[in-house]
Amino acid sequence: MVGAGFGGLGAARWLARQPGVQVTLVDKRNHHLFQALLYQVASAGLNPSEIASPVRGLFRKSPNVRVIMAELSALDADKKIAYFDEGQIEVAYDAVVLSLGGETNYFGHPEWARFAPGLKSIEQALWLRGHVLEAFEKAEKSQDEALRRQLMTIVVIGAGPTGVELSGAFAELRRHVLRWDFRDIHPEQARVVLLEGGPRVLAAFPPDLSEAARLDLEALGVEVRLSERVQEIGEGYLVTDQGRIEAHTMVWAAGVSGHPLAARLGLPTVAAGRVPVLPDLSVAGMDGVFCLGDMCFCPDDQGKPLPGMAPVAMQQGPVAAANALAYLQGRPTQPFCYQDPGIMATVGRTRGVAVLGNRHFSGTRGWFTWLWHHLLRIVDFQNRALVSARWAWAYVSWKWGVRLIHGGAGESQQIKEK
Ligand SMILES: Cc1cc2nc3c(=O)[nH]c(=O)nc-3n(C[C@H](O)[C@H](O)[C@H](O)COP(=O)(O)OP(=O)(O)OC[C@H]3O[C@@H](n4cnc5c(N)ncnc54)[C@H](O)[C@@H]3O)c2cc1C
Repeated sequence: MVGAGFGGLGAARWLARQPGVQVTLVDKRNHHLFQALLYQVASAGLNPSEIASPVRGLFRKSPNVRVIMAELSALDADKKIAYFDEGQIEVAYDAVVLSLGGETNYFGHPEWARFAPGLKSIEQALWLRGHVLEAFEKAEKSQDEALRRQLMTIVVIGAGPTGVELSGAFAELRRHVLRWDFRDIHPEQARVVLLEGGPRVLAAFPPDLSEAARLDLEALGVEVRLSERVQEIGEGYLVTDQGRIEAHTMVWAAGVSGHPLAARLGLPTVAAGRVPVLPDLSVAGMDGVFCLGDMCFCPDDQGKPLPGMAPVAMQQGPVAAANALAYLQGRPTQPFCYQDPGIMATVGRTRGVAVLGNRHFSGTRGWFTWLWHHLLRIVDFQNRALVSARWAWAYVSWKWGVRLIHGGAGESQQIKEK
């Protein structure tokens, strides 16, 4: 089992309960990360440890699961050997389940990653938090009005759930928290711009909820700019088809593609570098290889690819694991069938939108729906309790407790370029 994200964890947990099965679970990181709350780390709402759980700890009571921290680098599907850490570690397998996630998609402009990093890891979230807080510190010291304005401008590119959540959180951070911390500048006047190439925010949601989210964002003071496409990004500025914005902080939240390693592993790839899978989540032509989650291209009943979302990976995990076992035991495999639990996004600390079946929720009801589902998905009880307590405290006090700047400038630059 490679990858301890939502897909991998589900698969490994299912296999851990099967008698006679030995599982080797490998991840390049030592923790499972709840990516949906990364924006809270980036906007100083939560600590990294509250949204990440050490993988070893999650399997301490499963003697048949061996956990290894290593990076998959090659796969020999004929000999059934997976190579890690550039060949330093070899693991022979009977069946392998891959759930490596995806990467930020810059749509043919990888050079923009230097100036507008994505948000996929704890390192990136901490970098972003430090970068924003440091910008306000610099603005406080500067007497140059134009520079101050640039330092206090944050542009989020892409108005999907991540872009909407991040821009809403930054808007609240500046208006309700930072405004009390500074004397010479007015953080509440900082600009938070949300840029979207399409005609509405949250394009995957029904139009009424997109509109509710847009109005909520604007009420928080976010400058929502729709149907505006980025043409160029450089150090401290961005050019769109409608003009230039001077911004110290830019974040790319406009898309996710498959895993860059897929081609190197010899896996077939289709749209956006995703690995096409058969209905039972196996990879055609590769004996004993199963693939799931964000890295795979798995069509629904109508042939539309399933979205890169946690519930998809969570539901695919046990199915891929069961099919891997069935394959080994010579039994027929089962097709994966997605049960859509709905989609949701939060807008700031008290508003949100959610679709559950044919019911639409917005405003505070949307936020409670979002809150309930997200708390349930945090994998360990301790973090669920910590996050609940921190949110409850922030809710009543408007105090964000984790406004720390970590690391030096050199370290920050390296993380940004990762
Ligand atoms: C900022 C953000 C916000 C999101 N918000 C939501 C949301 O609100 N709701 C929702 O449903 N979904 C959300 N998602 C999407 C959701 O997190 C993913 O769909 C889900 O995590 C996919 O699970 P996965 O197992 O495919 O991949 P991941 O959870 O990404 O896990 C992949 C794992 O593979 C490991 N790995 C990668 N490469 C290697 C390698 N070479 N060797 C070993 N290990 C490797 C990684 O370290 C990681 O642990 C969000 C994603 C992001 C980035």
